[in-house]
Amino acid sequence: MVNVPEIFGSKVFNDEAMRQRLPKDVYKALQKTIKEGRQLDLDMANVVAEAMKNWAIENGATHFTHWFQPMTGVTAEKHDSFISPVGDKVLMEFSGKELVKGEPDASSFPSGGLRATFEARGYTAWDPTSYAFIKGDTLCIPTAFCSYSGEALDKKTPLLRSMQALDKQAVRVLRLFGDTETKRVITTVGPEQEYFLIDEDVYRKRPDLLYTGRTLFGNKPPKGQELDDHYFGQIKPRVKEFMKDLDNELWKLGILAKTEHNEVAPAQHELAPIFTTTNIATDHNQLTMELMKTVAKKHHMHCLLHEKPFDGVNGSGKHNNWSLSTDTGKNLLEPGDTPSQNAQFLLFLTAVIEAVDRYQGLLRYSVASAGNDHRLGANEAPPAIISVYVGDELDNVIKSIIDGTDYTDKSKKMMSIGASVLPHIPQDTTDRNRTSPFAFTGNKFEFRSLGSNASIASPNIVLNTIVAEVLNEYADKLEKATDFDSALSDLVRRHLTDHKRIIFEGNGYSEDWVKEAENRGLRNLPSTVEATEAFIEPESIEVFTKNKVYTETEIRARYEISLENYYKQINIEAQTLSDMTKDEIIGAALRYEEFLANTINDMKSTGTGIPTRVEEKLLQQAADMVEVLYDRLQKLDADIAKEDDMNDVKELASYNRYTILPDMDSLREVIDELESRVPHELWPYPTYGELLYSVQ
Ligand code: ADP
Ligand code: MG
Repeated sequence: MVNVPEIFGSKVFNDEAMRQRLPKDVYKALQKTIKEGRQLDLDMANVVAEAMKNWAIENGATHFTHWFQPMTGVTAEKHDSFISPVGDKVLMEFSGKELVKGEPDASSFPSGGLRATFEARGYTAWDPTSYAFIKGDTLCIPTAFCSYSGEALDKKTPLLRSMQALDKQAVRVLRLFGDTETKRVITTVGPEQEYFLIDEDVYRKRPDLLYTGRTLFGNKPPKGQELDDHYFGQIKPRVKEFMKDLDNELWKLGILAKTEHNEVAPAQHELAPIFTTTNIATDHNQLTMELMKTVAKKHHMHCLLHEKPFDGVNGSGKHNNWSLSTDTGKNLLEPGDTPSQNAQFLLFLTAVIEAVDRYQGLLRYSVASAGNDHRLGANEAPPAIISVYVGDELDNVIKSIIDGTDYTDKSKKMMSIGASVLPHIPQDTTDRNRTSPFAFTGNKFEFRSLGSNASIASPNIVLNTIVAEVLNEYADKLEKATDFDSALSDLVRRHLTDHKRIIFEGNGYSEDWVKEAENRGLRNLPSTVEATEAFIEPESIEVFTKNKVYTETEIRARYEISLENYYKQINIEAQTLSDMTKDEIIGAALRYEEFLANTINDMKSTGTGIPTRVEEKLLQQAADMVEVLYDRLQKLDADIAKEDDMNDVKELASYNRYTILPDMDSLREVIDELESRVPHELWPYPTYGELLYSVQ
C-alpha cells in the first residue's frame, strides 16, 4: 500500500523542501523572487543550487537538466552530470550559474528563421515559479528558452508574459471595485486529458502508429462505441494497474491527478487533475503526457495521444478549464453573494465574451494542428466555429441586461447591475452543453477544442492575452468615469449587445449551426491552413505586441513554424502510407488474387460444376482493385514528388491539405475495401478490432 500523503511531492523541490533546506534569509528572498517574478542574484542562486543538489542526490539523482518546451510540441532536456574532477576523484557540484542559466545548442530546434537573423545560440533561464523535480536519475529545472537577442524560442516565455499582462489589467479592474488587497491575479487551469491504450505487440505491427501516431487505414470494428458501454464503464484490471502506477508517479511529482475514467471509445480513457496556476498546469500536463507513455510501456502497452488515432472512432481532446483567481484565492468568475460582487463578476464575464468574439480566429488558431483538424468540425468535437455557451440562467441575465429589463421582473424596469442580485448560478446542475467549444461551467470557462496531443500553452497564451486586452480597454474607460456605477452598467450593456452574436446555446454539432453562424458573421476556419493565417492578421499582431506577449518578429517566426509542423506531419503520413502500401498491401492484394485464382482452378480441376459466376466476379473485382490501388499509389507518389519544387511554407501547407490529404483518402478507400475482402490470415496488419480490443 502506498501512503499517498507521504509520496505526494516527494520528488519535487517544493516549498516544504526549500523551507527545510535553505537558510531563512535565502528562503525568504527566494519566496519574494517567486512572488514578484524578479531575478535571483548569483550569491543567492549559489546557496539555492547547493541545497537543491544535495536534496537531489539524496533522492537518487546524478544528473541535472534544464527542462524546457521548445516549439516542437514536446519537452526538451540535455543531461549533465553533477561530477566535477578533483585530482583522481570527482565531486558532485552544481552552481548557481548552472541553476539559473543554461546554454543548450539551439540550432536544431524550430525557430522559424529567428536563428538566421539573430544569434545561433539560445539560452535557458530558470522559472522559479515552477518547482524543480526529479525524473529518473535527473534533477529537472523548469526553464524558459530564449535566443540571445531575447526572442522567445519556447512556449513558457510567452505564457508567463501573457499571465503578467492579465495580472496587470485584472488588478486595475479590481481596484475600481474598491479592492485594495489583491496584489496579483493569476489564471488557473485544470486540463482534462484523453488518451488511448493499446497492447504494445499490436502497436509494433503498425508502422503508421509508430511514425505518425495514427492509423492511416482500417475499417471500423463491428463493435464500436454504439453501445455506449465503455463510457464510465468498469475499468479493466490491466488498465486499472496502469492508472494506479501512473497516479503514483504523478503524485510523486506533485501533480494533482484526481479523476481517471473510461471514455467514449473502446480503449479510450481520461485523466483530470485538480486545477492549478496556468504555467504549472502546463508543465504538469507535459509531464503527465510523458509519464502516460513511459508507464504504459512498463505495462506492455502503448499510450496513443494523437487526436484521431482511428477514423470513425471518437477522437481524443483536452478540456482546458480556465479561470481567474486573486492571490488570496478568490475565483473572479464565481458569481458572488452581494450586488457589488455580482457587478464585478458580470464585468469579467463580459470581458471574456467580448474577447472570444473579437479574437475567434486566434482561439481557433491556438488549437490548430494536423492531428486536431481530424476532430474539429467532425461530429464528435466542438466545431471549427468558436462560440460561447453560458447556460440558461446567465443567458437570461444577459438578455435582460441587453434589453434593459430586470430579468426576474418583466415590467421593463431598468436593471442597474451595480444594485441587482444575480440568481444563484448552480455549478454542475447547469445543463452542460457538450457541443460548445467554449462553455461557462459555473465558475470557470471550459475551452473544449484542444487536441489531446498539444501543449496547453498556446490556447492559454491567447486566452490570457485577449482577456487582458479587453480588461485594459474597460479599465481605461472606467478609470475616467465620474459616476462609476452608471458607467459600469452602460459599459456592460453596450459591450454585451455588441458581442452577443458569439453566444450560442444550441447544438454546435448541427448543420444548421454552420449556416446560422455564417449569418451571424462568425468565422469558420476549417483547417490549420486557414486558422494559421488568423495569427498574422493586423488585429492579432496588435493585441500581442501591445500586451508585450509576442514581438512581431516572434509572431512571424511562430507562423512559419506552425505551417512547417503542419505540412511536415502530413508529409510523413503520406510517405508512411505509400511505404506500407508498397511493403505489404500490394503483396496482400496479389496473394488474395492468387488465392481466388487457385481456388477457382482447384474447383475446375475437381469438376464439381463450380465455380459459378460469383467466384469469377470476385476474382475480377480483386483484379480491378489492384489496378485502382496501383493507380492511386502512383498518383500519391507523383504528388509527393512535386513538393520538391516548392519552397513557400504557405504553399506547402495548402498543397498538403488540399492535394496530399485527398490523395491519401482515396488510396485509403481502396485499402479499406481490400481489408474487408482479403482473408484475415492474408492481411498483413492488425485491424481496428485487434488494436482497440487488444487490452483485455
Ligand atoms: P467535468 O468537466 O468533467 O464535469 P469538473 O467540473 O469537476 O469536471 O472539473 C473539471 C476540471 O476543471 C478539473 O480539472 C478541475 O480541477 C478544473 N477546475 C475546477 N475549478 C477550476 C478553476 N477555478 N480554474 C480552473 N480549473 C478549474
Ligand atoms: Mg470537462
